[in-house]
Amino acid sequence: MAERSIPLIDHRQLAARPAVPVHAAQPSGLLSDRRGRALHDLRISVTDRCNFRCSYCMPKEVFDKDHRFLPHSELLSFEETTRLARLFTLHGVRKIRLTGGEPLLRKNLEILVGQLASLRTPDGEPLDLTLTTNASLLARKAAVLKAAGLQRVTVSLDALDDTVFRRMNDVDFPVADVLTGIEAAIAAGLAPIKVNMVVKRGTNDQEIVPMARFFREQFGGQVVLRFIEYMDVGITNGWRMDEVLPSAQVVQRLHEVFPLRALEPTAPGETAERWGYADGRGEIGVISSVTHAFCGDCNRARLSTEGKLYLCLFAQRGHDLRALLRDPAAYDDRQIAAAIGQIWQGRDDRYSELRGSAAGAEAAAAKVEMSYIGG
Ligand code: SAM
Ligand code: SF4
Ligand code: SF4
Repeated sequence: MAERSIPLIDHRQLAARPAVPVHAAQPSGLLSDRRGRALHDLRISVTDRCNFRCSYCMPKEVFDKDHRFLPHSELLSFEETTRLARLFTLHGVRKIRLTGGEPLLRKNLEILVGQLASLRTPDGEPLDLTLTTNASLLARKAAVLKAAGLQRVTVSLDALDDTVFRRMNDVDFPVADVLTGIEAAIAAGLAPIKVNMVVKRGTNDQEIVPMARFFREQFGGQVVLRFIEYMDVGITNGWRMDEVLPSAQVVQRLHEVFPLRALEPTAPGETAERWGYADGRGEIGVISSVTHAFCGDCNRARLSTEGKLYLCLFAQRGHDLRALLRDPAAYDDRQIAAAIGQIWQGRDDRYSELRGSAAGAEAAAAKVEMSYIGG
């Protein structure tokens, strides 16, 4: 097979330095972007490193021994991350998801979890604090993360068949160890657990029904399985539309074996469409990022490992908040919060709605990698 040569744009050089408004107003908590969308969720990437090489995310031929991951001095410290997270809560953020790369590779992550768990919304409520992981280190870390204040975890697992899964993670990691991680998370009190399966037509779509059957029957109904359409994130994964299996077909295939009925969403801006098993034994979700754009109520911001704010999973450019945190001018919280507010107010991103159009094609040429800003 011919070797694939994929240019990797280094987005780490591309961030703009945010302007600090001269008159920094106190955040109202009612921020709205140019399309009237509030700011509710913050995804924080705590490392750009991963011990897996899933071909749809960090293909081996790009993320190889020559790839330059961020040095430690460039990462936000836990204190810097928590400071920014607190400012985001003043603008309306109620939910924080830690991600990566593989977040459990970040040393002493439980310290950050503890700091974030102590944050409160302006109404005095704790945040909804969760984490997405490949589960390779979950058995070791679940109890300490729970004790630090983590509420739930989402685990990624693309197949039950060991050969298929080992091929997809491309580091020969076995399914059994992911299942042990899920078990440990349930035992630690992190349930209900969401399990995310990225579906690639021709690679793991034969696993849809076995995965559904397994998670219906095992773990006492404490796992909700969600099927994610394979997305064109970044520019390195060689994405092709014919490898996307539309969620409608996932639902149809499942419905033939386990009759399903549509369920109401539990929260506005929820990405997953919920389907319940007609026999009452649990539910599944489908995330149709490609075939059914949900930009209209997208209320998520993303903070990269070294403090760049991205307004869309498919953004080309970040906003360098770390530059403000480390500026010799020593900006105070009110100034940095005002800068964040101004960035969100200028947001017009809606990549999934534009996919396929001329504007979408232009945007597609230089998207940021998912392993860098997190899923
Ligand atoms: N390493 C962790 C993990 O895999 O759970 C967290 C980071 S990973 C980037 C977050 C989520 O993004 C995972 O559920 C992963 O399956 C998903 N993901 C990565 N690349 C994707 C793609 N091209 N299409 C759809 N989902 C993708
Ligand atoms: Fe790593 Fe997660 Fe990306 Fe797989 S999806 S390569 S586990 S960051
Ligand atoms: Fe949100 Fe961007 Fe995804 Fe649309 S494409 S739902 S704006 S992250």
